[in-house]
Amino acid sequence: MPTLIDDTIAAISTPLGKGGLGVIRLSGKDSCRILLSLFPSGQNTLVDRVPLLGNIIEPKTGEILDQAIVTFFKSPRSFTREDVVEISCHGSPVVLKAVLRLLLDSGARLATPGEFTMRAFLRGRIDLVQAEAIHDLVEAQTLFQAKVANQQASGSLSRRLKPIKESLVQMISLMEAGIDFAEDDVSVLSDEVVRKRLQIIKNDLKTLYASFAAGKLITTGMSIAIVGRPNVGKSSLFNALLQDDRAIVTDTPGTTRDLISETIQIDGIPVRFIDTAGIREAENRVERIGIDKSLEAVADADRTLLVMDGSEFFTEPDQSLCDRLQGYAYTLVVNKIDLPCKLDLTPLRANPKAIFEISAKTGEGIRGLKQGLFEESGRVTAREAEEGLITNVRHENLIGESIQSLDRAEKSLEAQMPHEALLLDFYACLKSLNELTGETTVEDILGNIFSTFCIGK
Ligand code: GDP
Repeated sequence: MPTLIDDTIAAISTPLGKGGLGVIRLSGKDSCRILLSLFPSGQNTLVDRVPLLGNIIEPKTGEILDQAIVTFFKSPRSFTREDVVEISCHGSPVVLKAVLRLLLDSGARLATPGEFTMRAFLRGRIDLVQAEAIHDLVEAQTLFQAKVANQQASGSLSRRLKPIKESLVQMISLMEAGIDFAEDDVSVLSDEVVRKRLQIIKNDLKTLYASFAAGKLITTGMSIAIVGRPNVGKSSLFNALLQDDRAIVTDTPGTTRDLISETIQIDGIPVRFIDTAGIREAENRVERIGIDKSLEAVADADRTLLVMDGSEFFTEPDQSLCDRLQGYAYTLVVNKIDLPCKLDLTPLRANPKAIFEISAKTGEGIRGLKQGLFEESGRVTAREAEEGLITNVRHENLIGESIQSLDRAEKSLEAQMPHEALLLDFYACLKSLNELTGETTVEDILGNIFSTFCIGK
């Protein structure tokens, strides 16, 4: 690990395009020396955290490349905990590349993707969850996503995990001490106490596990397929849904002309609507492909809106669609309520998760439909997000594993197995939690045993 972070890295930190400013960052013990090779004004004048204006000089020719503001962040008070230098040049891609080239010629190495953040992690400035959150923050498509990522980056999940881990470490320490010093006057935890403590930890982990529904919704958003037979108003609904809320991403139309999708944000959550070709019994091959695509879209989407025409009687194709959607959680949207109603909803009420009546033409019911999509999946409050959520599959797997370890421990407890056997599962649980934040544990446990039980007596 140390050899990996022993050298000095450099990279252009702003997107490569023309702009007012462009920033190049250096991190590592030689940052200052490398900088000074092309920024002579910094000689003897570079002060920690004080921006300094000067010229970037091409060392061989003495030519001025650009005027820049340089800020030095002395180790350990920097993002990576190493000496860091930020060079703010003018945002010209040619200049930025030339400055970077000079830095590399003077001994810096081109940073690999994410390497500054990785160093911050390896140097113990942030944990893994925080590092992931920095990535999410940069990738955020909505302000709400950015806010949640920022909370995670400042340690909300790590803070939520901390007391859970502390309880676990304490229980392990007590049990270890009970085993190691059984002959001394150290009390051994009774099975009942272990069971109670285990239950509390498991419940906390289960609540955290459940937070993935909200975390996933925030980070990856939701995709919704719109299906229905031709002319029921799918495309009209698609357009009406996009109308008030500006699309945040304009997707290129799908690989076939049958599927188009657009993403908008509803309450800060990116929602991607997919307009499908009409699903109906195929009469020819081309239509068959369209139907297959629609059903694929349904299978891939988080939710499906089945659109029916409220101004027409229920038809055979509608029935066949309902049959095809059995097994999917779909929402029925009855369109064209501005026209006299002919559709009898009574036989349809059983299957869909919800029914919304709308008019894509007049816009009636569209807002309610948008809100309703979230009512069903559970709204994420800012407060929930503040408390810390698990936001990706890695987190979900590790918390899942930690719960499984506790399940095993519980079984061993029921079978009145010795504490040594329980400990294996508690350690496995701790390992999963530590993997989440990227910490090691042995010291924690040793420290706890030594400080609590006065071993030196
Ligand atoms: P698709 O084939 O399911 O995508 O249906 P379209 O969106 O192309 O709509 C088919 C026809 O129904 C068009 O003539 C629309 O103008 C009309 N239409 C769509 N929604 C409404 C509605 O809410 N009210 C009325 N009166 N007409 C609608």
